[in-house]
Amino acid sequence: MLPQRVQRKIRFEYRQARVAGDCWVWAGAIDKKTGYGRVQMDRSSKYVHRVVYEALAGAIPGGLHLDHLCRIRECCNPAHLEPVTPKVNSERGEAATKTHCPQGHPYSGENLRVWTDKRGYAHRICRTCNIQAAKEWKAKRAVAKEMAA
Ligand SMILES: [Zn+2]
Ligand SMILES: [Zn+2]
Repeated sequence: MLPQRVQRKIRFEYRQARVAGDCWVWAGAIDKKTGYGRVQMDRSSKYVHRVVYEALAGAIPGGLHLDHLCRIRECCNPAHLEPVTPKVNSERGEAATKTHCPQGHPYSGENLRVWTDKRGYAHRICRTCNIQAAKEWKAKRAVAKEMAA
């Protein structure tokens, strides 16, 4: 069970369309560095989303981080949280906050393609790089054909 004092500080708000259901937005203290909610539990300060997840969904396997599928860091809805390895978590986070592709083209307007995978994650694709990659692939294939001929 989740302690009353924790429950009282959670607001249910529609914040995004990425995952079904409202975000459980923490109205208490927010960690300035990480943006995650914090709460005093057993005389120490803990991350709210971890406390809520463990109380309602179960233990988090050792060494795993909880990834916010909704990308709302103050959210502690267990349905929006998924235990992942730290590596996956930082890769997903970076992908969501980058404004440009590795070649410096903007992830916006005409240049932005969004592709949603089977699990419902949105991936951003740079149109310029995508076209370039297709051209290079065709060129390579042409060379390979010539060499084979
Ligand atoms: Zn959420
Ligand atoms: Zn690009």
